[in-house]
Amino acid sequence: MPTSPPVYESTLFTTVAAMQAEADAARAAGRRLALVPTLGALHAGHLALVREARDRVGPGGHVTVSIFVNPTQFGPGEDFEAYPRTLDADRDALDETGTVDAVFVPTVEAMYPFGLPPFATVAVRDLDRHLCGAHRPGHFAGVTTVVARLFLACRPHLAVFGQKDAQQLAILRRMTADLGFGIELVGHPIVREADGLALSSRNAYLSAQERAQAVVLSQALRAAQAAVARGERDPAVLARAMEAQVATAPLARVQYVEVVDAETLQPVEALSEGGPSGGRYLAALAVFFGATRLIDNVTLRVGEQA
Ligand code: AMP
Repeated sequence: MPTSPPVYESTLFTTVAAMQAEADAARAAGRRLALVPTLGALHAGHLALVREARDRVGPGGHVTVSIFVNPTQFGPGEDFEAYPRTLDADRDALDETGTVDAVFVPTVEAMYPFGLPPFATVAVRDLDRHLCGAHRPGHFAGVTTVVARLFLACRPHLAVFGQKDAQQLAILRRMTADLGFGIELVGHPIVREADGLALSSRNAYLSAQERAQAVVLSQALRAAQAAVARGERDPAVLARAMEAQVATAPLARVQYVEVVDAETLQPVEALSEGGPSGGRYLAALAVFFGATRLIDNVTLRVGEQA
């Protein structure tokens, strides 16, 4: 008789010590541990990461989802206070997947016991010079610090992050490798609405008009991919075309449009097969609709892997 897959009911942990005890017990039992860090306000994109985590560790593994609106990654004037906090709905959504063992929801005091700003931080240099890093000073130091803290609290073998935040993923890969965390980082493809808009907790801020026009982000990125497939190799030409496409939406205000090497996240003179990441580039943009800032990206491939 076929056996149905096990259904996991999640347990809530709010202190670092309790989370570590749970992780240690799972490790002692020989289970493989996965972590999916989030800010909460979960949507189908987050849940896809959670399912990927379960697939990676298997039925005998252990999946933790952390929900923490991390104050150190929000700048002054950003939406830390207003960021949607929907814990009950998040827990229901996670339990509905039937794939989560632990939900880690620490307080700010639990994560930063010596107050804010923290005395000890983790930072990765250079990779934050462009894209979001250029416009959100201190943001990625906040991200690397909190993810290092989450790694130490949840003690996973692997962690799943979305390609939606491509710069974050590249920076976390470097942090994990340089500091020798011994944790495998898994990048999950961007989950999109039917019209191409990347799912984001911040989409909830958009008016109906803004929501309709927000489709220009993914349209511009797809056009860049098509241009590269046709042979365009000039990043400035690609960026100008993307900006022009975004400008067709009257409510859109571009913060940045950039094409960079996919690994070093530095600008290049021309796309080529011989770049540092072997012909992989990132086209990325940030666009405001009113006060709402949306980001999106695609990978541009040149050469054999195109
Ligand atoms: P956040 O709660 O926005 O910090 O996101 C938590 C994780 O989910 C990050 O690794 C994000 O990159 C990922 N994520 C958010 N939106 C999407 C999406 N539309 N597709 C794939 N991953 C996503």
